[in-house]
Amino acid sequence: MPKDYYKTLGIDKNASQDEVKKAFRKMAHQYHPDKGTGDEKKFKEINEAYTVLSNDEKRRRYDQFGSADAGGFGGGQGGGQGGFNGQGFGGFDFSGFQGGGYGEGDGGVEFDLGDIFGDIGNIFGGGGRGGRSRQKKGSDISVDIEIDFKESVFGIEKTINLNKTSTCEHCKGSGGEPGTEMKKCATCNGAGQISEMRRSILGTFSSTRMCDDCHGSGKIPKDKCKECHGQGISKKNKTLTFTLPPSIESGQMVRLPGQGEAIFGGASGDLYIRVHVRAHKQFIKKGNDLRTKLDIKLSDALLGAEIKMDTLDGLIEIKIPQGISIGEVLRIKGKGVPYEKNGKRGDLMIDLNILIPKKLSKTAKQMIEELRKEGV
Ligand SMILES: [Zn+2]
Ligand SMILES: [Zn+2]
Repeated sequence: MPKDYYKTLGIDKNASQDEVKKAFRKMAHQYHPDKGTGDEKKFKEINEAYTVLSNDEKRRRYDQFGSADAGGFGGGQGGGQGGFNGQGFGGFDFSGFQGGGYGEGDGGVEFDLGDIFGDIGNIFGGGGRGGRSRQKKGSDISVDIEIDFKESVFGIEKTINLNKTSTCEHCKGSGGEPGTEMKKCATCNGAGQISEMRRSILGTFSSTRMCDDCHGSGKIPKDKCKECHGQGISKKNKTLTFTLPPSIESGQMVRLPGQGEAIFGGASGDLYIRVHVRAHKQFIKKGNDLRTKLDIKLSDALLGAEIKMDTLDGLIEIKIPQGISIGEVLRIKGKGVPYEKNGKRGDLMIDLNILIPKKLSKTAKQMIEELRKEGV
């Protein structure tokens, strides 16, 4: 008998994600087993209802089929947002990218309820998160892109075209025509699994495998989706737009959760974008500082000067102090690479190279003779 998750949380069928979250918070606090008003059974029911309704994809399946398990979501949390934040790649985790990102990318909402979920671990023996590894997941995709040096310093929005397996937009991945009824899968007789007897040198044993026709749900749609012929997925060209953060380095990976290959009845894989930065002929990066060289005239070195210089920020005026020495480095504050955290910027370091003239005009020679007499 299907459970009414909306009733469990005491909310309306049209409740927003915010309302779902609020209702869950309230009830979870009330029925938490450690509380006087606690009720472990009820608490688990609330948690189950929330797991489904807080995930757009599962909620849609539940609304359509009366069960979030249609298609083998069995117990796993959607999204793959959990313990993996991309740090292993020294990269960034971009959940908030702007594309056709439905479903999986939104799965992580439950984790900001740290106060409650810290406790759930105790009740469920810490196994709460382990369940997610059982979920089927599409393959990850990795793509290489090349960007300009300036783009790597300030960040950039990029658009790429990918030919990949995506969730069918017509049936939203269910494989059935929208609104169609579900019927019992004839192949597995509704069990979702098929048992087989196998012989090996150790004897005969039975093994079960997931039913390929219903992908383990035990149910198949009466009318298959016309677009994907019941596959729930289809290969197509997709345009993805995403933002690369400032101060990204060559070789760094950016992860776009849920933008890999889609799979029927599971979460899509992730998309990894490996960045290659084209070298700049004038600037190099040293941590959060930019470094460059600048040739200056001998007279400017002796007298000081104001010089216009082309930088990543466009033309800026720099002040050469009077009497600088050979090999001196000029530091222009705040014209370097942005810091990841506070958006402040490092400095621009300019290695000054004083040009000593190889030839002198007659007049120049006379003047410098004068300088010599002055003891300079
Ligand atoms: Zn379809
Ligand atoms: Zn089946």
